[in-house]
Amino acid sequence: MPILTQDPQQTPGGALKRLSLLKAAVLFIATVCLCLCGLLYLQLEQSRRHALDVAQVASSNLARAMAQQAEDTFMKADLVLTSLVDWIQVDGYGAAQKPRLQKTFARRAQALDQLHGIFLFDKQGQWVVTSFDDLTRGPGVSDREYFTFHQQNASTLAHIGPALRSRENGEWIIPVSKRVNDKNGNFQGVVLAGIKMAYFDQFFKSFSIDDNGSMFLALTDGTLLARRPFVESQIGTSLAKGEIFHKLLPNAPAGNAMISSVIDGVVRLYGYRQLDAYPLVVSAASSRDSILKDWYDTAFQSCVIVALVVLGVGLFGWVFVRQVRVGVRVEADLRKAKEALKLIATHDSLTGLANRRLFEQALDIEFGRGARQSSSLSLIMLDIDYFKRYNDAYGHVAGDHCLAEVARAVKGCCHRKADLAVRYGGEEFAVLLPDTDIHGALVIAEQIRRSVMDKNINHNGSPTGYVTVSLGCYAFVPTGRDSIELFIERADAALYQAKHSGRNRSAVLSLEGGVEALMRSDR
Ligand code: GH3
Ligand code: MG
Ligand code: MG
Repeated sequence: MPILTQDPQQTPGGALKRLSLLKAAVLFIATVCLCLCGLLYLQLEQSRRHALDVAQVASSNLARAMAQQAEDTFMKADLVLTSLVDWIQVDGYGAAQKPRLQKTFARRAQALDQLHGIFLFDKQGQWVVTSFDDLTRGPGVSDREYFTFHQQNASTLAHIGPALRSRENGEWIIPVSKRVNDKNGNFQGVVLAGIKMAYFDQFFKSFSIDDNGSMFLALTDGTLLARRPFVESQIGTSLAKGEIFHKLLPNAPAGNAMISSVIDGVVRLYGYRQLDAYPLVVSAASSRDSILKDWYDTAFQSCVIVALVVLGVGLFGWVFVRQVRVGVRVEADLRKAKEALKLIATHDSLTGLANRRLFEQALDIEFGRGARQSSSLSLIMLDIDYFKRYNDAYGHVAGDHCLAEVARAVKGCCHRKADLAVRYGGEEFAVLLPDTDIHGALVIAEQIRRSVMDKNINHNGSPTGYVTVSLGCYAFVPTGRDSIELFIERADAALYQAKHSGRNRSAVLSLEGGVEALMRSDR
């Protein structure tokens, strides 16, 4: 049977709207949370970049200042050595020259703060003249790197060697040396200027860098000459495998990089620079932790605030979503309850068939439809034979069961969706058959009659010995001005005829000829 009435609140759009509201809310909350996190990320990334950029500029400037200072320091020593070598190569360093050379060496050494002393060694590496008053005695310096370098290289340029401890007084020095030749260019000895490592230490200390920062001076081959913080055991170690010497310097003589130190493993932002005039490299670095310390604090606070906001929004969203879900569930329950109520209001509880209320509504609709489509509408009225006796014989409970069985048989013969089986009253049933003429109605009536007989329900009070039904059929084409009562009355009249002519049969009421009984008896 088609839906006869429709509750406007039950429109499926309501639930759909609520579902899409739920989705929109979840999407909105997720978007807000994502936007907040995205903004936080962008802001933190930007401030982090800014902090690193500032530190990069600072370390570059520091490296530039260190390079300038180192170049000045070595160039002054280089100039002193050049003038002394020129002099020695012209006048030689015989016994007559030694007093004058010693005084000159001493004067020059005093004139330059960075100089530890000036030394002249002969071609065997023995002390000839020094800037000190007492001439050191000992095995000489033929084993020193700078001495063998000049012995084996004809270059007359200044040579800077690895840092060493002076054999004069044990002080750490960086040796700057030059080869002394005779007139024919043969090796005659070495002039050495020792640069005090302490000079660089003091210079490095004059800058304010963080506790984990570092500054160093090294040869281009990576040999460490001076470093802040100063650790004696690290002097002379090689940084050649570190990223600056291994990767960066071959590509660019100056630059910046965030790298982990090969000496102490601390991650720092290094600014490095190779000197133009000497094979030296300087570097200044601040530790990443100190550069980003303020950033870490800000990031932590921002993250906590955003996390709280996201938590709040998420919590609100959760409560909201829960409320909407509860609403959807309540609405579904209400809908179910309404449907159940509607079923109760329109159906018979004993048999499950439509009740008279629904029957009347259906009649109203089908009268209209039949009139519009000029199609025949049929009604079968049906009554159980000798049912009073059945109740008397078997009791009312058994009578109820019997009614339910007959109802099942009636329902089973309603094949079309529009066919409606009704419990009309007590043990009377009606079957409304839209778009069906009298012949069709009679066929269905006979099917019902046989179906009830086939159930073979014992009935001692009936002459047949089992439960049977009598049926009356009526059919007409509605005109739009018809009476429902008359329609029912005519089918009832046919039923009366079926009863009157012996029961357990179907009768038809023809429009013209009054009652015409069609006997269909299985007896
Ligand atoms: P007939 O062949 O002429 O129809 O005889 P009948 O005994 O069936 O007579 P009638 O139709 O007047 O009897 C109706 C009986 O149906 C009366 C009543 O006891 C019984 N009845 C009506 N409603 C119910 C019901 O809901 N349950 C039960 N068990 N019996 C009902
Ligand atoms: Mg009756
Ligand atoms: Mg009866």
